[in-house]
Amino acid sequence: MRKIIHIDMDAFFASVEQRDNPEWRGLPVVVGGAPSRRGVVAAASYEARRFGIRSAMSSARALQRCPHVVFVPPRFEVYRAVSEQIHGIFAQYTDMIEPLSLDEAYLDVSACDVLGGSATRIAEALRADIFRATQLTASAGVSYNKFLAKMASDQNKPDGLCVIHPQRGEAFVGELPIGDFHGVGPATEKKMQQWGIRTGADLRKKSREWLAAHFGKSAGYYYDIARGVDERPVRTHRIRKSIGSETTFAQDLNREAAMLAVLEQRLEKVLLQLEKKRWNARTLTVKVKYADFTQVTRSKSLDEPSHGVSAFRRQLPELLRSTEARSKPVRLLGVTLSNLSPQADSSEEEPSQYPLF
Ligand SMILES: [Mg+2]
Repeated sequence: MRKIIHIDMDAFFASVEQRDNPEWRGLPVVVGGAPSRRGVVAAASYEARRFGIRSAMSSARALQRCPHVVFVPPRFEVYRAVSEQIHGIFAQYTDMIEPLSLDEAYLDVSACDVLGGSATRIAEALRADIFRATQLTASAGVSYNKFLAKMASDQNKPDGLCVIHPQRGEAFVGELPIGDFHGVGPATEKKMQQWGIRTGADLRKKSREWLAAHFGKSAGYYYDIARGVDERPVRTHRIRKSIGSETTFAQDLNREAAMLAVLEQRLEKVLLQLEKKRWNARTLTVKVKYADFTQVTRSKSLDEPSHGVSAFRRQLPELLRSTEARSKPVRLLGVTLSNLSPQADSSEEEPSQYPLF
């Protein structure tokens, strides 16, 4: 049986800003792009979340929900420095670390014998060490696989710990609302709800065959997680091939300007992820699904890898115009960046050990 810890910093960017700017403590703070420039929310403080503000929401909408919200442009160099500090703490316990972004990582502590080898005590020690070093709180989930550890870290946020013991894994998953499952996005959640799948227990009633017929290649994953099974190892060398974001509309879009606005917003969101992971990208792909469910993708590669907004944004109108979006109603739009490579300023670090941190 493995021992996996998922560490997730609480409202990371926003917490760093509140730490460094005491006058913002206790106030709704949003780190992200300006509302006037179609920015998106990168992180929202807990005070801002009380107004219904969430990350990846448009900044304009955040402003509607809370007109007195404090908008702060991101300071990625500071977040990276804190992230490296946290990473150093992880490395004191194990070298089996899989960073997911600047503020999240999986740790496999199965072979770790400090604190009696207790994953729970190690998680508590990690949280205490992180707080001592950064004055920031982290939440931890402890379990026997990545999926459950990730679900667990969400249970007692902020500044919380949750342990899911092997004998409780299946029951925990059974009670979990389907929308809370990691890997079930809003569109899948809606589909599942339509088939009466509201919880993990409902999902467990579906056969492998039924899942394959309805969810294709994701079927195996759903079948397993419904039973609390996840064999994926903690991978220290994970490199993703692409980052994307797409959205399906409640009503089909017809106007080009509206489509471009959506694409720009998706691009902004994807670039934010790219920045968090300290990558460049070379290729931009636009995906268009028409109302009749046929779809096309159009790509453009830059001469040089980049993580700049303008280099990619400039390509959007032409990519969109090379589809039939102006003559056919559109039900889905998406943006993907691929041909990823590390940003140059990260090269002085250990080259391949923890490329994303
Ligand atoms: Mg976090």
